[in-house]
Amino acid sequence: MPWSDVQVGDLVKEALCRLVRSGRLAGTFLFYGPPGSALEELAFAFASAILCERKVGQASVSVANCQAETPGLPGHADGDFCGICRACRHIRERIHPDVFALEPEGAFYKIDTLRTMQGMAALLPLEAERKIFILRQADRMRQEAANSLLKILEEPSPHSIFILLTDNVTGILPTILSRSQRVRLSPPPLDRLIENLMASKGISKEAAESLARLAGGQPGRAEEMSDGTWMERRDRLIALLEKIRHGSRLEIMHGSQALSRDRAGARETLEALLSLIRDGLALTLPDNPAFLLNIDRRKEIRSLWHGAESDQVIQAFETTVDALADLDRNLNVQNVLETVFMACAGRSSVESMSPKGPQRA
Ligand SMILES: [Zn+2]
Repeated sequence: MPWSDVQVGDLVKEALCRLVRSGRLAGTFLFYGPPGSALEELAFAFASAILCERKVGQASVSVANCQAETPGLPGHADGDFCGICRACRHIRERIHPDVFALEPEGAFYKIDTLRTMQGMAALLPLEAERKIFILRQADRMRQEAANSLLKILEEPSPHSIFILLTDNVTGILPTILSRSQRVRLSPPPLDRLIENLMASKGISKEAAESLARLAGGQPGRAEEMSDGTWMERRDRLIALLEKIRHGSRLEIMHGSQALSRDRAGARETLEALLSLIRDGLALTLPDNPAFLLNIDRRKEIRSLWHGAESDQVIQAFETTVDALADLDRNLNVQNVLETVFMACAGRSSVESMSPKGPQRA
């Protein structure tokens, strides 16, 4: 698998490809990006580019702006990798004797893991010119482990390369940050995220597009939302809103009661509601599909807010934002939801409960 098959941005691939070609590799790299970024894929691809055994000319150069200037140089002088030589295959199968992937045990790295790594890094590579250590979730280190890692990085062995991966770069010690060559991965373009979701979840383009937009383009969040109950919850909420928009106060009370069993669930309901209200406002704009989040529920959202004044929709939005804060302040969940649904129905919340508003749980 050459660089062209790696699913990350071209700029990152070009930069790493050029580094391999130059032969001037730092001892420590830090790859970071939002949750769900292809950090690990990138790290193993980078390891392949460093250790690939083919000769230039045996595979086509695949990264546009990283052409070999001197064709015919031995090794991986073009910075690319073939994906088919023994080293590339063994890295892909995670059995290369000089490439190691480490991870926390439980919530954090153990000191012993780092000590073992230090011992291994001191030994010569078995097959390749270098040993490569890939540390997944490198932010998951307590002070002692982080200090131990820092010591290893401060006394690098000439044949070892460390690649730290993290989706939480603020969790990395500044002294480690400053020693690392940092590579930041951006979230993939929305189109690519949509394609990936369609392929991995077997869902329609519309559903994948909604997920991608609702997740703010973050692959990790989209993954969570597709596997969890988020979309189901949203659809139940749409059905409920259709009922209560023109319903009686009793129906609103029953609806709030049904959704108030747990605070975390109520929070998700309100977050889904914000997206539906936001879309209700977006539908009043020209060229509105470009602004919609719940693109797969366009028809339902249109009918939901049909006939509502924009003031009322804005009021419902503000009430929902306040309600999220009320949930954090531990106010009674049912009362909070009732206030929100009254606002969605265009009715005063005072009508529904005591003059003091939601009570503390
Ligand atoms: Zn190869």
